[in-house]
Amino acid sequence: MLGLMQGKRGLIMGLANDKSIAWGIAKALADAGAELAFSYHGEALKKRVDPLAAQIGSDFVVECDVSNEASVAELFEKLGQRWESIDFVVHAIGFSDKDQLRGRYADTTRDNFMMTMDVSVYSFTTVSRHAAALMPNGGSLLTLTYYGAERVMPHYNVMGVAKAALEASVRYLAEDLGKDGIRVNAISAGPIKTLAASGIGDFRYIMKWNELNSPLRRNVSQEEVGKSALYLLSDLGSAVTGETHHVDAGYHVVGMKAVDAPDI
Ligand code: NAD
Repeated sequence: MLGLMQGKRGLIMGLANDKSIAWGIAKALADAGAELAFSYHGEALKKRVDPLAAQIGSDFVVECDVSNEASVAELFEKLGQRWESIDFVVHAIGFSDKDQLRGRYADTTRDNFMMTMDVSVYSFTTVSRHAAALMPNGGSLLTLTYYGAERVMPHYNVMGVAKAALEASVRYLAEDLGKDGIRVNAISAGPIKTLAASGIGDFRYIMKWNELNSPLRRNVSQEEVGKSALYLLSDLGSAVTGETHHVDAGYHVVGMKAVDAPDI
């Protein structure tokens, strides 16, 4: 893959630590020659994000809270001062009150519903608009989603509703920005043990279930999500837009527990 992203520059949003999906994607892009900038949320994460960025030769690391419009505008202003144009943005951000990522969806509060939609859905819309202004020669935008958008998954609750809205946003943004040569896609990743995932009830059970019941009979890694991101963000995916691409060992095609799958 060396050289595939040579001369390309972009922003990775949502790096928290070396378990983050954003890190798997960043490594794949850097290995292919891309120049990267990073944004993270909350000063507490800076000490983790700075050394990771340095590991792949980046010193452009900016704090950004996507629920704050001014913070998003400031991030893209700084990016525009550093680089006159960019080629891609990765949005690997989601958040909900973890007390509501267990139990019933029916009990979701109005406040948490609005906050989850704001951070996990609207942020991609506003990020796309800001990014497009820095993409005079076209580009590629990518967000992360989960199968809980399409089917009911245990405990995923309001995050599933948010991911459904995020996937719909991908389609609308693809139409709006396609005329300017900007592609917009999502990767629907299988369950991966990350900081955000640890907030979801019974996550270990969900991982085990996927491992036993997906066609490949295993879970996926951050690195595998990284390789698919490279396809969508590079010229290899030049005719792909508005797509939700599953990187889940095939789990989404399965209708029922396999006869040979052991009970958990
Ligand atoms: P992670 O905890 O490493 O990343 C989530 C990121 O969201 C963190 O960096 C966090 O700081 C950021 N964030 C939260 N609120 C924010 C805000 N207000 N402003 C800016 N950033 C904010 O976990 P992850 O699993 O790598 O999550 C990345 C994306 O992948 C999320 O959208 C998640 O829903 C999605 N995803 C995860 C899985 C999984 O199983 N881990 C599966 C499918 C999709």
